[in-house]
Amino acid sequence: MNPPDPVHVIGAGPAGLMAAETLATGGARVVVHDRMPSVGRKFLMAGRGGLNLTHSEPIEAFVRRYGTRAEAVAPWLEAFSQADLIVWAEGLGQSTFVGSSGRVFPKAMKASPLLRAWLARLAELGVEVRTRSRWTGWDGDNLVFETLDGERREGWAATVLALGGASWPRLGSDGAWRPWLEAVGTEVASLVPANAGFDVAWSPVLVERFAGAVLKPAVLSFEGRSVRGELVVTRYGVEGGAVYALSAALREAIARDGSAVMTVDLRPDLSEAVLAERLARPRGKDSLTNHLRKAGGLSPVAVTMLREIGEVPGNLEKLAKRIKAVRLRLTGIQGLERAISSAGGVRFESLNPSLMLRSRPGVFVAGEMIDWEAPTGGYLLQASLASGVVAGRAALEWRASQTGAREGA
Ligand SMILES: Cc1cc2nc3c(=O)[nH]c(=O)nc-3n(C[C@H](O)[C@H](O)[C@H](O)COP(=O)(O)OP(=O)(O)OC[C@H]3O[C@@H](n4cnc5c(N)ncnc54)[C@H](O)[C@@H]3O)c2cc1C
Repeated sequence: MNPPDPVHVIGAGPAGLMAAETLATGGARVVVHDRMPSVGRKFLMAGRGGLNLTHSEPIEAFVRRYGTRAEAVAPWLEAFSQADLIVWAEGLGQSTFVGSSGRVFPKAMKASPLLRAWLARLAELGVEVRTRSRWTGWDGDNLVFETLDGERREGWAATVLALGGASWPRLGSDGAWRPWLEAVGTEVASLVPANAGFDVAWSPVLVERFAGAVLKPAVLSFEGRSVRGELVVTRYGVEGGAVYALSAALREAIARDGSAVMTVDLRPDLSEAVLAERLARPRGKDSLTNHLRKAGGLSPVAVTMLREIGEVPGNLEKLAKRIKAVRLRLTGIQGLERAISSAGGVRFESLNPSLMLRSRPGVFVAGEMIDWEAPTGGYLLQASLASGVVAGRAALEWRASQTGAREGA
């Protein structure tokens, strides 16, 4: 007798591997596919920045980071919470710590030891991993894969798609899956950059002297929301955590209006009045630049930025006001090639609460390929892993219900 069809998990990033672990722990035979020659490439890349696994803030604040999708993501975080993630990482030998910003990292500050231990656990659970196995859609009911040995068709007991978004396509997630899902009646929102840099028409002088300079702390504001953090000046414009936190609203405004004006408070720890008072100190022989540095406490890049956006006001109140609200015009968003994540993906309307495609019973989705987005800070990995747990559990239940139905027939 042939063995029963396995559950296929397609995409070996954090979401897919977590779905595979959940399924295999529940007793399913699992085959994981990835189109790349090795698994978890984006996860390893995330490790280069220290691997910010999650954030330690209270759940009420945490869930708000998912913006308009907070309500949809909340049940995933109930299924696999921040605390669960930490216990899971520690179970793989990776003790964690909370950084000064509240972000949670493994002490190793990289992904490779965690991934190695994870793959060993999956192997012990009997999970088969097939690399260079690229899913290309369905042929009737069968899954179709391009492999080194040609095209393969596979039957399935359930399927979990965890194909990622479309950022950093050279790491594997290229968003090519969109038409295959649309062909079976699933709605997919366009995959666009999230957590990406924005273009600013800097002068050549600023670029030459300050590309790579970090402004910290700065408070960035847009459409009534303010974020304190880091702004990095780049050759093309700006990037950094605080920029990413506003990136969804900025991206939408640029798409709508052609550009967006973000204000930057260059001295967030001083009130306008105190700043004006300090600037009123006698300047002596100091140039205006030196005075702004010494009396105003502005860094060289902050002074240059201030001068970029127009004549520096002579009136001290106006000058203080300007320092507290430099208006930066952002004219575009950087592409998907280097964005940390993407927004868009499978719309929630096309999914049931168990993350099953309404148009393809037995097919579940997880991770960044679903239409949610979040800033950096650990929110991306937390939601990807948590949705992997949800999809994995639901696929187990579905498989059991089908077996039950067959046995009952
Ligand atoms: C530079 C960088 C730094 C980051 N740092 C952090 C961080 O510190 N903290 C954080 O929370 N997040 C971080 N992220 C984001 C995080 O890595 C992603 O959100 C996360 O990896 C998404 O997981 P996923 O499993 O949904 O997708 P992915 O990790 O993208 O995995 C999807 C997998 O599917 C495979 N695949 C795609 N199409 C097919 C196909 N047709 N057939 C077979 N396989 C296919 C791909 O090869 C890939 O391996 C970072 C991202 C980048 C780029």
